This record gives sequence, C-alpha cells and structure tokens, in this order.
Amino acid sequence: MPILSINPSTGKTLRHFDALPPEQLEAKLALAASAWKAYQEVPLEHRALCMRKLASLIEDETEELARLMTLEMGKPIRAARAEAQKCATACRFYAENAAKFLTSEAVPTEASSSYVRFDPLGVILAVMPWNFPLWQVFRFLAPALMAGNVGLLKHASNVPQCALTIEALTRRAGFPRGVFQALLIESSDVAKVIDDPRVAAITLTGSNPAGSAVAAQAGKLIKKTVLELGGSDPFIVMPSADLNVAIDTAIKARTINNGQSCIAAKRFIVHESIYNEFQERFSVGMDNLKVGDPLLDETDVGPLATSKGLEEVQAQVQACIDAGALLITGGERMMVDQGNYFEPTVIAGLSRTAPVYREEIFGPVALLFRVHSLDEAIEVANDTPFGLGASAWTHDPVEQQRFVADLQAGSVFINAMVASDPRLPFGGVKQSGFGRELSAVGMHEFMNRKTVVVA
Ligand code: NAP
Repeated sequence: MPILSINPSTGKTLRHFDALPPEQLEAKLALAASAWKAYQEVPLEHRALCMRKLASLIEDETEELARLMTLEMGKPIRAARAEAQKCATACRFYAENAAKFLTSEAVPTEASSSYVRFDPLGVILAVMPWNFPLWQVFRFLAPALMAGNVGLLKHASNVPQCALTIEALTRRAGFPRGVFQALLIESSDVAKVIDDPRVAAITLTGSNPAGSAVAAQAGKLIKKTVLELGGSDPFIVMPSADLNVAIDTAIKARTINNGQSCIAAKRFIVHESIYNEFQERFSVGMDNLKVGDPLLDETDVGPLATSKGLEEVQAQVQACIDAGALLITGGERMMVDQGNYFEPTVIAGLSRTAPVYREEIFGPVALLFRVHSLDEAIEVANDTPFGLGASAWTHDPVEQQRFVADLQAGSVFINAMVASDPRLPFGGVKQSGFGRELSAVGMHEFMNRKTVVVA
C-alpha cells in the first residue's frame, strides 16, 4: 500500500510514497546497527555541536517546516511555527545539559568507589503520531542522540514528508549517516522491526490499541518500552478562580491543534456557583473561534487531520446526544466540500455511565460537568481510564494542595493549562502509558543506569 500525504483542508493527495520493500528495510536496520558502533566513539562535544546546528537549521527554516506540517496534517500555521521553535529549544536544551545529565552519580558505600554511570542502549525504534509531527519526534530525538543512542523513526503514515524532512535535517546538521533514519513502513511491519535483535528498545506515542500491541510484542522479547498514550484531561474550575483567565485558557486548552492533542483539556469540571456563567461565556468563546484554512494567520481551528478522525468525532458527538447529553453549540461538519472541518462543540451533562464518557475525543469537542464540592470535582476528574495531565483553577491554597495530592495524572498544573516543557518530565499514569519523556528523566529511560562498585 502506498503511504499517502493528503492535505486535510482540501482532501487532495500531495505526494505518495511506496512503503520500504524488505531488502531496503534490512539495509536500514544494518546501517543503524553499524552507525551505533561508530557513534558511541563520537565525543559528547561533537554531538552537542551537531545538536546546536540542528537547532539553527530549524530556526532558519521555521517557515518552510511550519508550512509542511500544516499542509500534511492541518494545524494552524501560527501553531506550526511555534512547534518548530519548540523543537529548536529542545535541541539546545539537550546540547546544553547532556554533559550534566550523563555525569556519573557517586553513591557513598563501604567500597572504595561506587557510582552509577549512564550508557546508551543502542538502536531505539520510535513509533510516532501525526498530531505534533515535529515535536513528538524531537522530544525523542534530542535526548536519544545526545545520549549516544541511534534512532529509527516509524512516523504516522499520513506525515511521510515530515518524517523524511527530519531525517534530512539531522544529516545536514552533521550527525553521521545512519544515526537517525525514517522508515516509511506500514504499522503492520512494526512488529518485524521490534523483533529484530539489532533493535534494543521502543518508544511509542499514539493511541492505546497501538501502545498495547507494541508493548505486548516488546514485552515478549524483554525489550524496554516507553508509552505515551491518550488522555481525557480534566480542567477543573473552582469558585476562587480568575474566571476571565480560566475561560480564555479553557478555550485554548480544548482547541489546541484543532482539538487533537493528548494533553488538550477534554472534560471541564466546574463548581456549581460559577457553572452557568462558565458555560455561557465558554460556549460563546468556542462559537467565536475562526475555523478555516490553516495556512492563514488568522485561523484558530483548522481541519481534523484525517477523514477517519472526523468520522470518529462525529460518531462520538452523536453517541453523547444519544446518551441524553445536551448539545450547547456546534456538533456538525463544516465546509463539507473542502476538507475535514468540524465545528467547535460544547456538550453538557453527559452521563458518566455512557460508554463514550470513557473514550478520548480527539477533536474540538468539550464536555462540561457541574459539581458541588471539591471532593466531587476530584472524584469526577479521576473517573477516567486515563491519567495524563490535569489543570485545576483555584486560588485557595487548601484546594490547590488537594488537587496536587489527589489528582491521578502524570502532571498537575494549577492556574495554567497543561503543556510539555523540555526541562520537566512528561508522561502519564493509568491508560495514558508509562515511562517519561523530556528532562534528565526522559533521557535516562533509554540508558543503562549501570551500577559500578570498586571494592
Ligand atoms: P495511532 O493511530 O496509534 O498511531 C500512532 C503511531 O502508531 C503511528 O505511527 C501508527 O502508524 C502506529 N501504529 C498504529 N497501530 C499500530 C500497531 N498496531 N502496531 C504498531 N504501530 C502502530 O495514533 P494517532 O492517531 O497517530 O495519534 C493520536 C493518539 O496519540 C491519541 O490517542 C493521542 O492522545 C495520542 N498521543 C499521545 C501523546 C502523549 O504524549 N501521551 C502525544 C500525542 C498523541 P500508522 O500511521 O501507519 O497507522
């Protein structure tokens, strides 16, 4: 099957690529293995030099990179530029901090010397999604390559041009041949790569079925995995919150990346004393968003990335209505003859026993819930199979402490929306996955933390 790059705002095919035939896949695996041997000898300062060059290339070519992302998956161009810049920031962060993160840690014992050192694992397979087609890859690539690992990228099949562009950028930045390669393969061929003895570990960012399949396969072979999966993040608003800021942020947090972000706020849990005002103003704000061509600077919300994703969101909205929820605004496809556009949508009062309540909705659809107390807010927030991020809005210090302690999530943000940051660990609990990316913690996930004792 060819791998297609389709513009989601027009439905037109931009380019198509043939999936790698078996002999070319074999050649790339062999190259990765030999590249790793040589790359371990490359001094850290040289890796940092290449990483800084990579950051400069991204900064210089932000406009082209942003346009490519927008054309392949439909994110608004302003967000695409910001994404490219964030990748450059991550490259600089790891170029700057790798020496510190890789320094052996002394642990005093009775021995004359005892310490933990950090050795790279080898060839790491990264299975990545389309929603942040550069950022998802760079948050793996930058720490992995600074650590001395080499990367194989199986990117989502709807963003092949982004995949090839990232590989080309790493070569132009001076990383040796084979240190980072894109594999244009279908997901059905991922198992073969996991099985290959030259592949040491796997990181996957994507949906739960994909994560489960990849981790099961890797588990059978005792290969390390990191999984960054779906989310249904709560956004909790309590009476002491600054409502103006909370509402503006709520709109942004739900519609970021056209509603297709793992850490987008998806369930809005609002205290009854401010609920009516929140619903009214939030719905008006969602209605006022400018939906349209993602290449235009003024666009807030572009098309969904794929027609399949659009159909899923439509079906989920219908399931909410069928379960007795109230459609406050939106709920329909837009500009049907142009692309995968869907109205920003607000739904209230969905029953927590409806099957759709337990699903992740990957589009600009907000679910509102009215609660009567702090305990109930926490109870509803945690009533999900997922546990990625959580955002809670309150100026009451006691409430803040309760949210920090009791929300079941990989990260809790107070009076701010959930966001990733190269300096901070990122990841989830429950069905949102395991392991962490970013910071020193993310870098060490794919390293042998070797204990050394010299008697
Ligand atoms: P997806 O369908 O799971 O695809 C992700 C990647 O996995 C793609 O490269 C895909 O390849 C591959 N894949 C799919 N099924 C597979 C299988 N059975 N075996 C091996 N590989 C497989 O997810 P998506 O639609 O691209 O992305 C959206 C999902 O990612 C959402 O659930 C979102 O919440 C999650 N996400 C999580 C994070 C996080 O950090 N936690 C960040 C971003 C996104 P093909 O494209 O060829 O199918």
